Amino acid sequence: MKLLWILYIKLLLLSSINALCNITSCNSLGLIDQSKILAICETIQCNISPDSQVYYPLDLNYSSTISHYGISSTNFSVCSVVPCTAEDLSIIIKIIGQNRVPFGIKSGGHSLNPGFSSTKDVHISMLRFSKVAYNSTDQTVDVGPGLVWNDVYKQLQPYNVSVLGGRVSNVGVGGFLLGGGYGWKSNQYGLSIDTILEYELVTPNGTIVNVNNETYPDLFFGLKGGLNNFGIVTNFKMCALPQTLVYGGVLLYDFLEINDIVNAAVNFQTNNQDPKAQILCDFTSLGGSVAISIIAFYDAPIAPPNTFDVFTSIRHLGKLQTRSFLSLVQASPVFVTDNMRGRFHTISVSNISKPVVEKVRDLFIEYTLASIPYGRTLVNFDVEPFLPSYFEKSQGGAYPHSPSNPLFPIVVQFGWQSELDDQVFINATQTVAEAILEAAIQDGQDLSGAKEILYPNYALDNTPLIKMYGKNLDRLKSIRQQWDPENIMYLTGGFKF
Ligand SMILES: Cc1cc2nc3c(=O)[nH]c(=O)nc-3n(C[C@H](O)[C@H](O)[C@H](O)COP(=O)(O)OP(=O)(O)OC[C@H]3O[C@@H](n4cnc5c(N)ncnc54)[C@H](O)[C@@H]3O)c2cc1C
Repeated sequence: MKLLWILYIKLLLLSSINALCNITSCNSLGLIDQSKILAICETIQCNISPDSQVYYPLDLNYSSTISHYGISSTNFSVCSVVPCTAEDLSIIIKIIGQNRVPFGIKSGGHSLNPGFSSTKDVHISMLRFSKVAYNSTDQTVDVGPGLVWNDVYKQLQPYNVSVLGGRVSNVGVGGFLLGGGYGWKSNQYGLSIDTILEYELVTPNGTIVNVNNETYPDLFFGLKGGLNNFGIVTNFKMCALPQTLVYGGVLLYDFLEINDIVNAAVNFQTNNQDPKAQILCDFTSLGGSVAISIIAFYDAPIAPPNTFDVFTSIRHLGKLQTRSFLSLVQASPVFVTDNMRGRFHTISVSNISKPVVEKVRDLFIEYTLASIPYGRTLVNFDVEPFLPSYFEKSQGGAYPHSPSNPLFPIVVQFGWQSELDDQVFINATQTVAEAILEAAIQDGQDLSGAKEILYPNYALDNTPLIKMYGKNLDRLKSIRQQWDPENIMYLTGGFKF
């Protein structure tokens, strides 16, 4: 064991010239060096309960606690702390604050912005906050941030309820709910944040509070879209929503059908008036092979006739059927994105019009071809139609989603393999988003100033805060200042108020 420790410390401090350079530059900036961070990890280990864990790079469990959906988001931290109670998390954040050590907070690890849920210093994995408790008396569900949505739906299935969470397989709970949350029931109930009744929060000074509209209205407002600015959330109390069997599935189309899909998506957005019917329209290519898909969802065992005819009438593979909600979420195409680097960005449009979707199509074809020389790459553009009324369920919050300004997100995602190509694909992500926005403006959509609000969970890390939080930004800055005067949450990555 002692030998392992010596090896570990050597690896950490001496094995690369690069690391030594970093340490030197850290010291010259007045920051703390790696051996001090190791000592802080040990202090944490000594002070938390034996049920919570601290893992080091040679521990078997270390890598699963730091890994991410995109490998470009993973950092190798000095230690990975896995608390299992809010009390232990309170101790951890106090030690972090006293030592001003950079830290990361990871729930599901699906952020594609490097450093948003990772760090080279003290990593906190929320993995052990994995409770799902259905309370039938008040029709609420307590959901732990460390889960992925499949697990939540699976545990709620026997009670015939669900919550407003992720639409495709295995996305994390914590970041999803703290950013906003677009789900399959958004036409009916709004965003996830409109269905959250209370947060258990460990504040930056280590106090554990239950935040709801009565106890701390400002914090409650801030947490509804404000990500990790106000502390670390250990439990979400959400509305339990009735859940029957659903109807839907994944329809896959050949490239030759791409124009028909564009027309069908626009047609669906224009004509669908049924809040129980939703789709995701997905243009994907992997290493140049194209797979266009429609994921169709109807929130009842059978959809009324004609609901999805615009899609089923086009030549396709796959079928729509009656199934459990969980099975629909699991049916989403699992593309081979393992070991890929990646980025998302987003555009919000006020109308999923034909010129906009045609632009998405044209850019998809252009960038699929352009990415072929880069080997195994992913090009994935997602159009997300909702009813124009879907923001009417808005309960307000940090992320502006007012009924007076309904917006529809479009997601642009690239995946690639070599770090050397990072800038190429980051530029592509940004260029595609700008081109789609330009097409929407050319189409006559008024997206000037605060009219185009971008969804923080899809936004690239250099997105200005004002583009995501609009006129809420000043209030959010003052709430953050009140709850975090020592700027502890500045020590972790993410969009900072
Ligand atoms: C395949 C895929 C599908 C997606 N589908 C959807 C979708 O249908 N709808 C939608 O709205 N979004 C969707 N997203 C976006 C998703 O909401 C974000 O990627 C979100 O960050 C995922 O949450 P996470 O817990 O996995 O993230 P993480 O990477 O773990 O965290 C993201 C951010 O939240 C912070 N954070 C996480 N947990 C906590 C906590 N407990 N307390 C304080 N801060 C915390 C982190 O520090 C980090 O800054 C999808 C993403 C992917 C990759």
